[in-house]
Amino acid sequence: LNPIYAEMPVTVFEHMSGLARSLGAINLGQGFPDSPPPAALTAAALRAMETRSQQYPPSMGVPELRDAVSAFYAREQGLALTRDQVVVTSGATEAIAAAILAVVGGGDEVLLFAPAYDAYAPLVRRAGGVPVFVPLAPPGWHYDETAIRTAITPRTRALILNDPLNPTGSVASPEELALLAAIACEHDLVAICDEVWEAVRFDGRVHRSLMAQPGMAERTIKIGSAGKIFGATGWKVGWMIGDAALAAVLAKAHQFLTFTTPPMLQWAAAEGLADPAITQGLHAEWSASRIVLIEGLAAAGFAVLESNATWFACIDLAASGIALDDRTFSERAVREAGVASIPLSALWEGDRGPTTIVRLCHCKPPAMLEDAVLRLSRWR
Ligand code: GLN
Repeated sequence: LNPIYAEMPVTVFEHMSGLARSLGAINLGQGFPDSPPPAALTAAALRAMETRSQQYPPSMGVPELRDAVSAFYAREQGLALTRDQVVVTSGATEAIAAAILAVVGGGDEVLLFAPAYDAYAPLVRRAGGVPVFVPLAPPGWHYDETAIRTAITPRTRALILNDPLNPTGSVASPEELALLAAIACEHDLVAICDEVWEAVRFDGRVHRSLMAQPGMAERTIKIGSAGKIFGATGWKVGWMIGDAALAAVLAKAHQFLTFTTPPMLQWAAAEGLADPAITQGLHAEWSASRIVLIEGLAAAGFAVLESNATWFACIDLAASGIALDDRTFSERAVREAGVASIPLSALWEGDRGPTTIVRLCHCKPPAMLEDAVLRLSRWR
C-alpha cells in the first residue's frame, strides 16, 4: 500500500463528526449548516431530476452551470470569464486534487500556508511534489514577505492560497494580494486559489480574487464551491477556473478523477447562482447565528479571536484560562461537554503553530449555539 495513505490519520473533520454522531454531541466541528438548503434550490434539483436527462453530462460540466459561474463572478467580483474557462467538479476538494495533479510533477515544491485545509499537503505528496509550509501567526494571520521569499527555491512550482482562510476566518488585504501576485509572477509560479469562502464574509469585509491581480489571469486556478455558497455541503458541486488553455488541461485531470457531477445538482446550482436573493437570505441567517456564538462565548469568558469570514470562530484556550492543549480540549469536550470542535493543530503539520486554538462552527440554529456555549462554560 502507498505509505502516504497507509500512515495518514483519518481527517480531523470525519473524526470529530464521527464522535459527535456516536456520542450524540452538538457538532460545531466540521463546517456545515443544520438547516436544509434554500427551498428554491431543492425545488430546482427535483424539477431537473424529474424532467431532464439523468445520464452523463459533459465532463466539463453542463453549459448552464458554466455560464452561471461566469455570470456570478462578473456580478460579484468583476471578473470577465467565458464558459470554456470553467470546469465543474464534484466538490472543491476534487478541484483541489485535479489542480494539483495538473500542475505538480516529481520534485516540484509547492508553497502552502499554515494553518491549511488538511487535504493540500497529502495531495501534493501524492503528485510527487514537496509541500513547503510558510506559517501564519495569530492574531492577524498575515502573509510575511521575508518568510515567503525565504521558502522559495528554484524548484518552487506553485503556491496554494486559501482566501478567505479556513480555519481563521481572515481575509487577505489588498497589499497582501499584491505581494503574493508579485512573487508569483517574479518566480513564475502557478497560484492554486481555494476561494470556497468567497461569499461567506461578514462585517463588510471585501474579498478579491488573486486572479484579478496584474499578471495573474494566466497563472491562477480559482476554485469555488456551490456547497459553501448555498450551505449544501453534501451536494459536492464545485468548479475550477483558469484561462482557456489551462482549463483544458485541468479538464483532463478531472476526467479521470470523477469524470462528471450529478446533472440535476449542476442545473440547480446554476439557477441558484443566477438569483442574488438566495445568497442574500443565507447571508442574513449566517450573520445572525455568528453573532449568537461569538457573543455567547465572549460572555462566558472565552477569548474569541477576530474572524471576518467563513462559518467559523476560533477561541484561544490559554487566553481563556483553560490549561489544556487544543487536541486534548477537543477530545474531552466532545465526550464530557457534548460539544464537538476542531483543534487547529490538526491543520498545522508538525510543530508549526500554536496548540491553544480551537475552531467552532457558527452556522447553526441560535438555540443550538446557546446550548453549546452553556455546555462548554459549565464544563470548562
Ligand atoms: N472544509 C470543511 C471544514 O472546514 C471540511 C471539509 C471536509 O470535511 N471534507 O469543516
